[in-house]
Amino acid sequence: MDPLKAPRPRLATVWLGGCSGCHMSFMDLDERLLDLLTRAELVYSPIMDVKRYPERVDIALVEGAIANQEHLEQIYRVREHTHTLVSFGDCAVSGNVTALRNPLGRAEPVLRRVYLENGDLGAQLPHAPGIVPPLLDRVVPIHAVVPVDVFLPGCPPSADLIYFVLAELLSGRKPDLAERLRFG
Ligand code: SF4
Repeated sequence: MDPLKAPRPRLATVWLGGCSGCHMSFMDLDERLLDLLTRAELVYSPIMDVKRYPERVDIALVEGAIANQEHLEQIYRVREHTHTLVSFGDCAVSGNVTALRNPLGRAEPVLRRVYLENGDLGAQLPHAPGIVPPLLDRVVPIHAVVPVDVFLPGCPPSADLIYFVLAELLSGRKPDLAERLRFG
């Protein structure tokens, strides 16, 4: 049987409050992507044209922190429909760069700082209800909102590390990153 037609674990990648650098690192898997896609079916990702997170996802890599209302709604749906949720990159794991605005307090001072105190951007707060999701007052990592199964740190995690984690999960093992992470 054609291996691409046999049932494979369903893989998703999700982009929340991050810079997309973690997804760039995912793309750096290069030819190893082909190997992964013979072992898993990619069912949702910013690199695909699928609008709604599907049901029955086996593994999801979730990049970014929870920074606005849309992220919050998305992560609840992802958690509900995903067996193994991977917190993908430092923004997802700790808030990291996305959470740098937290010392400004609530969302409103952040918007004032960006739109009113920066002369280049004009002198109006953005007003697009229903189009631009409202910012949350505080940026939080994913595990502050829903349970996370695997933490994959790095800014961004290297392609080698991403491959290791996915290969282990696809082999039915929980990845042990203790010997593979370097801090400082
Ligand atoms: S962890 Fe780093 S590379 Fe990934 S989204 Fe955050 S800032 Fe970007």
